[in-house]
Amino acid sequence: MTDRRSPPPKGPEGAVPVAPPSVPPSTFDLDVPEAITLKGIAGSPGVAVGPALVLGDLRASFVRRHVHTAQIPQELERVTAAVQTAKKTLQDVDARMPKAMREAAAILTAYQMMLEDPTLHERIDQKIRKDKKCAEWAVSEASEEIVALFGPKGATDRDAYIVERRHDIEFVCDRLLRALVGEESPHAVRLDEPMIVVARDLSPADTASMVREPALAFVTCVGTRTSHTSIMARALEIPAVVGVADALEKIRTGDTLVVDGLTGQVYVHPTDQSIRDARQRSEQHLAFARRLLSARHKPCVTADGVSVQLKANVELPAEAILAVDHGAQGIGLYRTEFLYIDRTTQPGEDEQYEVYRAIVEAVSPSPVTLRTFDIGGDKFASTFQLPAEMNPALGLRAVRLALKEPEVFLTQLRAMVRASAHGDIRIMVPMVASVHEMREVRRLLHQAIEQVRARGHAFEEHIPLGMMVEVPAAAVMADVFAGEAEFFSLGTNDLVQYALAIDRASQSLAAQASPFDPAILRLIKFVADAGKNRGIPVSLCGAMASDPLAASLLLGLGLRDLSMEAAAIPEIKEALRRLTVAEAEAIAAQALACDSADAVEELLARELAPRLIDLLAGLAEDVAVSRSSAPPPDR
Ligand code: PEP
Ligand code: MG
Repeated sequence: MTDRRSPPPKGPEGAVPVAPPSVPPSTFDLDVPEAITLKGIAGSPGVAVGPALVLGDLRASFVRRHVHTAQIPQELERVTAAVQTAKKTLQDVDARMPKAMREAAAILTAYQMMLEDPTLHERIDQKIRKDKKCAEWAVSEASEEIVALFGPKGATDRDAYIVERRHDIEFVCDRLLRALVGEESPHAVRLDEPMIVVARDLSPADTASMVREPALAFVTCVGTRTSHTSIMARALEIPAVVGVADALEKIRTGDTLVVDGLTGQVYVHPTDQSIRDARQRSEQHLAFARRLLSARHKPCVTADGVSVQLKANVELPAEAILAVDHGAQGIGLYRTEFLYIDRTTQPGEDEQYEVYRAIVEAVSPSPVTLRTFDIGGDKFASTFQLPAEMNPALGLRAVRLALKEPEVFLTQLRAMVRASAHGDIRIMVPMVASVHEMREVRRLLHQAIEQVRARGHAFEEHIPLGMMVEVPAAAVMADVFAGEAEFFSLGTNDLVQYALAIDRASQSLAAQASPFDPAILRLIKFVADAGKNRGIPVSLCGAMASDPLAASLLLGLGLRDLSMEAAAIPEIKEALRRLTVAEAEAIAAQALACDSADAVEELLARELAPRLIDLLAGLAEDVAVSRSSAPPPDR
């Protein structure tokens, strides 16, 4: 499984020697490999130095064979047994994990549920019964077909969510395959000494199984900041650089590496000076991370005592616990569309109710904002008959689809209403562009409440109904919408797309799709003011909330409620603690007067970055400040 070509020499810490070899400069010098730098994505902060361990392909292999009709029951039984074996293996990994690693455990629990996914099993069954394929072949084909439902690989790989869901399915099916071929142990990776694991990809269980192995860092060819390798590495507090396309070509087992999870760089055959630098950065980062995490459950209060609510965005129910762990004061956005994706039948009322209830109970007494499904655009669900439109982002998406399919929508609303019996929930409508849509949703919500009442279920009489403000029409009409919605949540990911007319998935225009564009800042300010004047709470749940500079600016624009990826909460809390509202307002006033996103970014770099430099660089203040002349890391 592992490819260990030349065992690395051991240094004082079980890693590589940091001193240069004490040999005279002779022919040896000709063999000193050239230092190279590989660029990837900063997946998990921290800096590590050590020898590489390059892992081969971790996928299970099998022989494709047809079976006789008489063997069909036996093949079906093999699948059932494989599900149990795979579940047991994941439970074992789970049991071996330290308690602190709740984040990783949540992913493993989700995988155990996915092993029994009805869509997957329908396909496997059919391939065994109808096509008479052996269990391994059926599992492998079912996996490929479900992965294909997400569209062609190259076309959508820019969407981190899609990449991750594909990865989940491939991982779960790989566990099944391993169980079928008798390679069920995920503990295949064994490190004899502290090493940097380099692989094409690492599944969460592969990563989790290394918890007690001395892995110094991870480097993978694929992945994004939100990929599971990154999430797991962050939970394990192991530095990681992901998306290093040429890692397997350029790195050999035993090569000395510096992995900089702060900048997303990997140095192969680093110089002695860069090794010394790396060690210093590593120490400073560890001190920084310990300090930040120790304060994560303290309330978020600005330097002049103003409270700001920090909540989490979640996609999977299992993430709710992780959110609480990171100090979230509730769930500001639960993207329910992920319940509809990757299946052949739509989730029923009871199934949805159980999921919503689990989330509500996990964060109770804090509130949970359940967003009704936002399907269409870049969020594809095969169970909906969506028309082939030239521009799906401007087509039948979100609330438009919900109103076109009132029965499907009512099923979701009833499940949400029933979940209200278990905690503080709010219902939020995505992509609202006209008051008519909000009125229709309110009418359907009343209908759903009456249906729930008639069926004798418990529920809360008043459930706040709010809306996403992510279409420019809704933003500029916020004062009017204040008469229709009980709260607003700014969705800057889409607001940027629609206001600047830049596809949110466009790689070539990504740099121009900036939430710092003054046009976006003015829309945010207008909505924040309209909410204040009309007594409507306004929050923001776009990705910009998880950037320390942007969050500070949002404070100055009047926001007191932000929702973001859970892992960013401790950092944003710390950033806001360092500012007074008056300071943030003064910066926001200048930003609103800027003529471009670049001018706003320069303003923030000048006025705010020096104060937040440690948060931007992920390093303790003294080191970060000495580097403050360097450009801030990719955000
Ligand atoms: C947004 O558009 O900012 C948002 C939070 O919604 P999503 O990213 O799910 O479209
Ligand atoms: Mg949106």
